[in-house]
Amino acid sequence: MPGPYVVPVHGNADLPEKVDVVVIGGGIIGASTALELAEQGVKVALCEKGGIGHEQSGRNWGWVRITRRDPREVPLMAEALRIWPTLAERTGRDLGYKRAGIAFACATDKEFEEHQRWLLHLRDYDLGSRMLSPAEFAAMSPSSTMTLKGALFTLGDARAEPQKAAPAIAEAARDRGAHILTECAVRGIETKAGQVCGVVTERGEIACDQVVLAGGAWCSLFARNSGLRLPQLKVINSVIRTTPLQGGPEHSIWAQGFSIRKRQDGGYTVANGFRNVVNIVPDSFRYMRDFLPALGSQWSALMLRFGGQFYDEARIPNKWSLDEASPFEYNRVLDPKPALHLQDRSLENLRKAFPVFDKAKIAQRWAGAIDVTPDAVPVISAVDTIPGFYIATGFSGHGFGIGPAAGRLAADLVTGSTPLVDPAPFRFSRFSDGSKIEIISGF
Ligand SMILES: Cc1cc2nc3c(=O)[nH]c(=O)nc-3n(C[C@H](O)[C@H](O)[C@H](O)COP(=O)(O)OP(=O)(O)OC[C@H]3O[C@@H](n4cnc5c(N)ncnc54)[C@H](O)[C@@H]3O)c2cc1C
Repeated sequence: MPGPYVVPVHGNADLPEKVDVVVIGGGIIGASTALELAEQGVKVALCEKGGIGHEQSGRNWGWVRITRRDPREVPLMAEALRIWPTLAERTGRDLGYKRAGIAFACATDKEFEEHQRWLLHLRDYDLGSRMLSPAEFAAMSPSSTMTLKGALFTLGDARAEPQKAAPAIAEAARDRGAHILTECAVRGIETKAGQVCGVVTERGEIACDQVVLAGGAWCSLFARNSGLRLPQLKVINSVIRTTPLQGGPEHSIWAQGFSIRKRQDGGYTVANGFRNVVNIVPDSFRYMRDFLPALGSQWSALMLRFGGQFYDEARIPNKWSLDEASPFEYNRVLDPKPALHLQDRSLENLRKAFPVFDKAKIAQRWAGAIDVTPDAVPVISAVDTIPGFYIATGFSGHGFGIGPAAGRLAADLVTGSTPLVDPAPFRFSRFSDGSKIEIISGF
């Protein structure tokens, strides 16, 4: 498999004829939804076109954070911070979860004030979140030479291992009776009298009453074939994994020139949240109007690139019938090329800020395609026009940390239970009912 090594999950050999719910996509969102449903005794099949956790969920930085999120996501993320510490016991597996705190460094007074203002969103939560003075940051990060105005620090933020988490959750769902089907692309949904009655996979049909689409960056294409318009684009972020290193910080740090997270193996995941590549593709034009406000506010963090990806995506059909191979069968794992110059610059910046990283060697490089929505808030919602169809996608770079709670919310919607949090901000219809679509204040 390209990208990082992910704990392997071997799929079940047999396709069930009928289940209650089919979940499409074996990332952390689909796996968490399947676990929540299976725990409630719902019969579930989780279908993944490649391997569990091989796309975003196995390639991300491993930050489990509430800090600097869009305020609309804060209540759901607070629930995620409650669920994560229970997962090792619940799944019977190691997910590498550790509450080690996250610091957002402030290089300027403006940044300090912005972070301080954002902190008001956590006033109802007891998560050990506060502004640090430069001296307090230095005391916490003894090997740092950074000159700062301060930092926003949340002790309750955490880290976990992306290469372990989705596999552990999927295996736990299987322990509770879920069918885990890998190398099993879903071509589309089937309906009877307008209501979901099954899915067609590359291995045959599965009858079901409900379907949750948790296909990450593929959801817009999948939805299009079902006659739905889901504005979603891909943003590429590049990551380095270093060899183990002594003397670096325990907490994760977000700074202007780099971001780091200590790994369970003693190495670090190094990247930069302010440097993302956006390939110009046919969807860029299809959804241009939806994304214009986001482009305005996120411009400095995006590097537009025109190249072969445009032609590759232009060749993908927008419509296919369910008895022919679908685009999902031709691309098992999205594996974008890392931007080497951005990675090298992040490591250089990190070494200036923390000279202890002079000794760090690059063990591996990879990139991941982040699925973003126009307001950078996910869709976790029923589809009003197709009863029985639900979508959980568009996590816009924040889905790993929030994943376990998003899976719970998706399961609540499917079973009709009291939702974990108010699902209104995540409704799919916001993109078509004239609602104002805006990016608020998260990263
Ligand atoms: C480089 C990078 C860094 C990030 N850092 C963080 C971080 O530190 N913290 C954080 O919270 N978030 C982070 N994110 C975002 C986070 O990884 C994602 O939001 C989250 O993993 C999304 O999970 P998912 O299950 O929706 O999607 P994915 O993990 O992408 O899974 C979707 C799955 O669906 C499958 N699929 C799609 N279509 C079909 C089909 N038709 N049939 C069957 N299977 C299908 C795909 O193969 C894929 O495996 C980062 C992302 C990247 C790329």
